[in-house]
Amino acid sequence: MRLADIPEVPRDEVFALTADFKADDHPNKVSLGAGVYRDENSQPWVLPSVKAAREALNKNRDWNHEYLPIHGLDDFLDVARDLILGREDTSQSPVVSIQTISGTGANHLGAAFLAQRLKPRHVFISSPTWGNHHLIWEFAAPDVVQKTYPYYHAPTRSLDFEGMMSTLEAEAVEDDVVILHACAHNPTGIDPTREQWEALAELFKRKKLFAFFDSAYQGFATGDVDADAWAVRHFRHVLFPRDSTAEGPQGLCIAQSFSKNFGLYGERVGALHLVLAPGTPEPGPRTQLLRLVRGEISNPPTFGGRIVQTILSDPRLRAMWDRDLQTMSSRIKRMRSLLRQEIEKHPGVGDWSHLESEIGMFTFTGLSPAHVLRLRKVHHIYLMMSGRASISGLNEKNVTYVADAIFEVIK
Ligand code: PMP
Repeated sequence: MRLADIPEVPRDEVFALTADFKADDHPNKVSLGAGVYRDENSQPWVLPSVKAAREALNKNRDWNHEYLPIHGLDDFLDVARDLILGREDTSQSPVVSIQTISGTGANHLGAAFLAQRLKPRHVFISSPTWGNHHLIWEFAAPDVVQKTYPYYHAPTRSLDFEGMMSTLEAEAVEDDVVILHACAHNPTGIDPTREQWEALAELFKRKKLFAFFDSAYQGFATGDVDADAWAVRHFRHVLFPRDSTAEGPQGLCIAQSFSKNFGLYGERVGALHLVLAPGTPEPGPRTQLLRLVRGEISNPPTFGGRIVQTILSDPRLRAMWDRDLQTMSSRIKRMRSLLRQEIEKHPGVGDWSHLESEIGMFTFTGLSPAHVLRLRKVHHIYLMMSGRASISGLNEKNVTYVADAIFEVIK
């Protein structure tokens, strides 16, 4: 192949949107594109708990810049695992934890490992999903056939639970991997209810499906880290109960990101946790994962992992972080209700209650591509063509402007 003949790839939508937004010099421009938290002045927010952890680290004179082991920082991995799985005795279902290049790296490492060692026929991905899932599985697991399962029911703006269950029931076979968003589904902001998660867990158990939880918003969604980990912990309890010899799936895994809940986007902090069925020897999976890491990144970066570990293992900093989560999640909730209120002020706009019932960073507005383009061209408001809007771009000063603009494009 001649390099001169390589076709050009279109720009990644969300990064292109951010670049176009930056280049726009209109004074009223609003970015509802990238999934990053912004404060009430539309500025990046360094969490006070992160600032305090940085200070504590800087005071520590023993801190150096040596390589970490291939699996990462042990103390970080312990607190990261406990955060998502709860502090439990892991003797029944062993857990292998590896530090990764944030959530993306964890998704990638999990996909590469499962493709090589579990060899599933299919990976099931929600429709719609975070766009990178398809790309990651295409690169890391080219032999695994990608399938989608219905997730969003547009007419009712709700979860297509029937479609999801019946597709998995009819099409998934033993050891197939199913990607689930642990909470605050991206892009829809709609999660299964607890009863629906229970039904899903039963289905996974009966059909021996491998659950792959993508956890990018723990604590960011509701402000409560335990509530946001409920589905993951429930799956673990149901699929791998203590003292049970019943056959079930071979394991499950969790791709954990600390980008949003610690505001550590650029530090690339994450972990992959592989939960194995009780009785599974862990050295095989663990050493194969290490081999993959060695060949791809050798070992992970240190700084972000140290920050997370410092916060989660110090009760004072941990309490600060809980407050930071409340600050972020409650501001997002307030913006959801203000946007709804401001849109519904206009006559004939219909019901916008979905803005409040959806959770997390994103809302699926229901706006069409034509609406989205007009919002950008005429009003300098940037969101994804799918109609996904990142709520954190809203604040008290611009929410009425955005609501009026939405009214103008849909009327
Ligand atoms: N999964 C989902 C669903 C996400 O929304 C994101 C962030 N947009 C990620 C994973 C990973 O992000 P990062 O690599 O920055 O941790």
